[in-house]
Amino acid sequence: MEKTLTIKYKEYPSVDALDAADAELVRQAIAATEGAYAPYSGFRVGAAVRLADGCVVRGSNQENAAYPSGLCAERTAIFAASAQRPDMRDYEALAIAGRNADGEMCEASPCGACRQALLEYEQHQGHPLRVLCLMAGGAVREVGSVADLVPFSFAL
Ligand SMILES: [Zn+2]
Repeated sequence: MEKTLTIKYKEYPSVDALDAADAELVRQAIAATEGAYAPYSGFRVGAAVRLADGCVVRGSNQENAAYPSGLCAERTAIFAASAQRPDMRDYEALAIAGRNADGEMCEASPCGACRQALLEYEQHQGHPLRVLCLMAGGAVREVGSVADLVPFSFAL
């Protein structure tokens, strides 16, 4: 029997079309690209996660000559948030922004490993963690739950 999966997501024409809190989160992700260490790819990614108490923790991709020792911006942000605020492992939304080697904004969608890592935090907290991706041209794609990005996910 053939079956089909569908996911719902929203697209906003610009950061300014988001509500104030989400717009600020995307701006924090854009600012976080400045902290990227990307001498090999030149692809600078920033992420910002907002905790339930409003605190925002930023991360950026950190590359290393000994591939794959580096880490993506999304995991840098959520791991830092979890490490710094173990009392508040309750995440509302995570925003991602990327710049190419020319410094231009470009789409930065989470890789498979990041999706799986984010999913575990979402499952742990028991409610959705929204993901906001800044796209080339300035539009924003919002996925309402990490689970929508990881169908048939790995589980122990
Ligand atoms: Zn990743």
